[in-house]
Parts: sequence; C-alpha cells; structure tokens
Amino acid sequence: MLVPEITLTPQLEERFVLRFGDIISVFHSRLTPLQKFNRWLNVRTGRAPIVLGARSAIFVPAKTGIIVVDEEQDSSYKQSDMMPHYNGRDIAILRAKIEKIPVVLGSATPSVSTYYNAKIGKFRFFKIEKRVKETPLPKIYLADLNGRRTGIISEKLLAALEQKSQSLILVNRRGFAKNAVCLDCDSLIECPNCSVTLCYHKKNGQLKCHWCGYKQKVDMGCRKCGSSNLRFIGTGTERVETCIKEAFPDKIIERFDSDNTKKKGSYQKILNRLKDGEIDIIIGTQMLAKGHDYPGIMLSAILSYESLLAGADYLSSENAIQLALQVSGRAGRMSQGKSIIQTYNIHNPDFIDIIRHDYVSFCEKELIIRKRHLYPPFSHLIRMISINPKQAEGKKDMQYIASWLSDRNIEFLGPSECLISKIRNKFRSHLIIKTNNVKSSVRFLRNLVENKKFDSRIVMDVDAIDFF
Ligand SMILES: [Zn+2]
Ligand SMILES: [Zn+2]
Repeated sequence: MLVPEITLTPQLEERFVLRFGDIISVFHSRLTPLQKFNRWLNVRTGRAPIVLGARSAIFVPAKTGIIVVDEEQDSSYKQSDMMPHYNGRDIAILRAKIEKIPVVLGSATPSVSTYYNAKIGKFRFFKIEKRVKETPLPKIYLADLNGRRTGIISEKLLAALEQKSQSLILVNRRGFAKNAVCLDCDSLIECPNCSVTLCYHKKNGQLKCHWCGYKQKVDMGCRKCGSSNLRFIGTGTERVETCIKEAFPDKIIERFDSDNTKKKGSYQKILNRLKDGEIDIIIGTQMLAKGHDYPGIMLSAILSYESLLAGADYLSSENAIQLALQVSGRAGRMSQGKSIIQTYNIHNPDFIDIIRHDYVSFCEKELIIRKRHLYPPFSHLIRMISINPKQAEGKKDMQYIASWLSDRNIEFLGPSECLISKIRNKFRSHLIIKTNNVKSSVRFLRNLVENKKFDSRIVMDVDAIDFF
C-alpha cells in the first residue's frame, strides 16, 4: 500500500498495526540501509507480508497480490527534484500490469487524468456513496478579501474562529512566504545562488533560501546597496500565527510547517496534542491537509485561494480545488463542520463546484479545456531542462533541441527560462513537448541527448507535473 509522505502520517501506521497486527513493514526514503534490509527480509520471508510505504516502496522486491495507492492524485508520488523522475502511482499501474494483479487507486479527489481513465472504461470505477459515520459534508463559505487594505483575516473568519471547538488554518507555502524588501533601493532581497527571494524567519532573525539552504542574518541588510532599512511583506505561517495570537490571546495556537517540525518527533508531538484537544487553532502548510483525522476540528480555513494557484501551469486549478476540498474535509469528521475559503477573486467559476462539493463537475469542465489545448490526459508532457553555470550555453542547448524538434514537426512550448531560472548558481531553461506517442518521443530524445555532446546537463522529465 502506497501513501503520500508516510513520515507525516504516523496515525496511518498505527491504524494498520491495530488492524493487522505485527505483519506490517513500513518503507520510506529515510530508512538506513540496515533498516531497509531487515524490513525487506521480513517481507521476503513472509513475516511481514504487508508493505506500507511512500513512493519508493513500489520498488520493494516482493511477491505482490494487490497494490493500493491511496490519495492517488498526490503530487508527492512524483519524484521531480532528483533522478530518476518517476511517479509511484504510474509505476504501481505498470507493476500491476506486469505481475497481473489488481491495483486500486483511491481518492476523494482523483486526478483529472485518472477520472478520465475511469470514465472511458480504461479503469473500473467504484464510487463510495456514503461518508464514514454518514456525517454530512462540511458547509463551505467564501470570504471576499478584495478591497481590503490591511489585514489578512476577514471578519467572517475571525467570527468563526470564536467557536469553542478546534480550528485549522491552511497557509500555502509556495509564493506566499514572507519576503524582505529594501526601502532604499526598492529591491527584494534575493538569494545570491538562486533566482528566488529569501524568506524571512522571525524566530532566529534570518533570511533563508528554501531552494539551496543559503541563509543570512537580517542585520546584514541589503546586499545591493548596503542599507539596513528593510521591510517585510507577504504572509508566512509565522505572521498568521502572530495575527491570530493578537486576536485570540486566550486560545492555544500552534504552527505546523516544515520549519517547526524539523526536529525528530516534533510533528508527532504537535499532532498528539491536537488529538488530545490541547490546541485550539492550528496553522500550517499543505503538510496539515494530508490524511490526518482529528475529530475535534470543526472549522477549517484557507487563507487565500489564489495562493493555491501559484504554479500557473495546466495543473494549478486541479491542484487548488483538490487541496480546497481536502482541507474542508478536515472539518467535522463527527458532525457537520464548516469551512471558510478567503479569496481575492470571488468570481472564480470553480467556487461553484467547490461549494457544492461537486468535484465531478469540475473534472468535466477541466477535460473540455484540456482537450482543446491538448494537455494530459489528451497528451503526454515531456519537460526538457538544461542546467548550466553559464546562462548563454544553457539557452543555446535548449535552442538546439527546439530547432531539432521543429525539423521533425514535434509540437512543443518554449524554450524559455524556467520560472526559477537559477538554482545553486546554475541557470535553467526548459521546453515542454506535447506528444501522443510517448514511447517513440522518449526514444528519439534520449538518442539526441546521448549522441549530441551538450555543454549543459540535460534533464528529461516524462509526464512532468512540476514546471518551476
Ligand atoms: Zn537596497
Ligand atoms: Zn538559494
């Protein structure tokens, strides 16, 4: 059984052990080689016939009878940040096909591609009509943030937070962190190694890069003009925490994000306190939306729907609506809960589907758009990235690939600089190929990359979902 980010969902392991006893072996990338070996041995000898794990567990060499992929739409099944690029969900489908066993893709909000495959009969579709305990779905309300000059929390949300039961607030990590701007030269303080702005961490007075780990003291000031006249803008979890604490001095408020849960066991501690009702309001990133089940939470909120759309690629609407429905689902596991979505664009048509919990309607509309523009599931996307310490060389290599593709009448987008055009002092350009014949396209491209001596490192990501 595959689950996304197992280290974040210790509850799940507990449940499996409770139900099946000591025959579970858990696999994830943080195990030591010895741990891995021992667990593999337990699987091999039949002592632990149930493998529970994150994406890499799909490679466990064991005799399998069935594969279950929970939350199959989850982007953490895709390994995009290092080689090899693969999607654990897709490997599961392939492995099941090879081993002639069933594979179950589970989700309340399946990916649009999986929905399509079920719709056209490529997959069999089983719909669960009733909720566990038959609790009605939470009521979802919108809060209009437009025209607000100050404050990041609407009156509607403030009023709702007054309630006595527990609340959860989602703050998106990407594109929504707190940045520093120099008031003397008007520039954002950027990472010297990457083309991203540094994030401000109040706790230790540092500015940090979330891509390469670079950090500097705030006292260092602006590297461009030397001024120490900095202002901090944006909405990180820390700032939200401060705002909520000011509004509700008597409530116990806790933050749940990767900065706050880095220490071993600390995320478990926070989640246990949440379970025991020792936290009134929990504020966190996507980590919080994943598979946790806390019956005390009656209110969930999304600080800004637009921040969920940060990717600006063909998947951004899909990912945003999935996350919105997941977060709303965290509220009211025992009786009907309430969910508030704050937005700067109240006319976004997707809200009609969100408020009605009508995910299928969203998928149908999305499929029309995808078909028109030939996006997956109506094509495969292959992303080619050049990585080079010299920007001009990287661009030249991408240009070469582009004209090579043009000569063969292969459709592609780009080339252009990546959204994050520099990471760790290496420049990145990319182009995206749309193809209906993924096997032959990959063969062509691999031949090209292997035979032509490019100056840059060329990375090929088949069925890419990350376009940064
Ligand atoms: Zn400056
Ligand atoms: Zn950096």
